[in-house]
Amino acid sequence: MNFELSEEYQDLVDTVRDFADEVVAPVSAKHDEEHSFPYAVVDQMAEMGLFGLPFPEEYGGMGGDYFALCLALEQLARVDQSVAITLEAGVSLGAMPVYRFGSEEQKRQWLPLLASGKALGGFGLTESEAGSDASGTKTTAKLENGEWVINGTKEFITNSGTDITQLVTVTAVTDTTTRDDGSVKKEISTILVPTNTPGFKAEKAYNKVGWNASDTHPLTLTDVHVPEANLLGTRGRGYANFLQILDEGRIAIAALATGAAQGCVEESIKYAKERQAFGTNIGSFQSIQFKIARMQARAHTARLAYYDAASRMLAGKPFKTEASIAKLVAGEAAMDNARDATQIFGGYGFINEFTVSRHYRDSKILEVGEGTTEVQLMLIARELGL
Ligand SMILES: Cc1cc2nc3c(=O)[nH]c(=O)nc-3n(C[C@H](O)[C@H](O)[C@H](O)COP(=O)(O)OP(=O)(O)OC[C@H]3O[C@@H](n4cnc5c(N)ncnc54)[C@H](O)[C@@H]3O)c2cc1C
Repeated sequence: MNFELSEEYQDLVDTVRDFADEVVAPVSAKHDEEHSFPYAVVDQMAEMGLFGLPFPEEYGGMGGDYFALCLALEQLARVDQSVAITLEAGVSLGAMPVYRFGSEEQKRQWLPLLASGKALGGFGLTESEAGSDASGTKTTAKLENGEWVINGTKEFITNSGTDITQLVTVTAVTDTTTRDDGSVKKEISTILVPTNTPGFKAEKAYNKVGWNASDTHPLTLTDVHVPEANLLGTRGRGYANFLQILDEGRIAIAALATGAAQGCVEESIKYAKERQAFGTNIGSFQSIQFKIARMQARAHTARLAYYDAASRMLAGKPFKTEASIAKLVAGEAAMDNARDATQIFGGYGFINEFTVSRHYRDSKILEVGEGTTEVQLMLIARELGL
């Protein structure tokens, strides 16, 4: 049993950490306030090869693995969750479905582009009546003269409307059958939709509580025609395939949440050493020390949980439950640490330009996105035979 990082992983951590501190952090508050997508930062992340981390070199990747992606996400999220989620969604939701389920032709067409970071892909699962219960999909795709004709709407799709977005993979009902009891069974498939296809529209971006520099839109698909060959994976396996992508994605989100939790610790230590009250720095008060010590314990626990889930995944072992545990623990650690950090900052914790107040707004979604806390609890309980 060894949780120590190899030299290669440690080099990656150090490089991304420096980049986060020197390039990302100085512009984070500005992008958050303006709700602007950080194109220049994303461009530099692309140059560093971060979007290609877990993909083989033959598809334009860096030849790393999913854990490497997680380590990078943790370092970025310490200072800026919007930037981290842009990478997470671009790689684990945008490109990974093509890598996991695509034909050789689809991989050759899309992966070099997405792995380069010069283009972004999105993952279109959620709909107004299909969130936690993603099987509620109403979007349809009908095969007509060798083309899928797609109609429907999607909600909350990350990276779906930037200037560099080129692909959104959507789930759609491709057939229905009526069972003997009269209920309808849906056949759900996944289809690659280039965003320049007529009828595809990214609607006005959401005005969110946090992740303000991340790109999130509702989508409308009106008579969108794409070739039959744009079916991703086996027809009818779309829902199952997306669930597999979400299992992996939970480890990546747990890594991101761990970074957020750790960022709150770092900011709090700095502030506690500087801020004076009653003739001393507030870090000399035991109540502040205990708060920060507990925050560190949460961040450490979250890190161990995602390391464990990632190591199982890389070893080819079952990891679904451990991914849910990591997502649950890390998401709550981020939210709890953000609440404690803003308390330590006093009134300044309520002022938006401070990193901890951004973490406070940003961290809430970590208990909701890629499966809510309740969904993780359901999955863990199911594994326990309940
Ligand atoms: C910023 C942002 C980015 C996102 N990015 C993407 C993306 O890129 N692609 C994508 O497809 N989706 C994306 N989502 C959607 C996200 O995954 C969903 O919002 C999430 O899965 C929850 O679904 P919902 O919002 O429909 O909530 P609901 O499913 O309606 O849940 C509402 C509440 O009911 C609870 N609940 C539901 N069912 C049960 C149950 N059986 N037992 C107990 N409690 C239950 C939930 O836990 C929650 O508290 C994003 C969302 C946001 C806000």
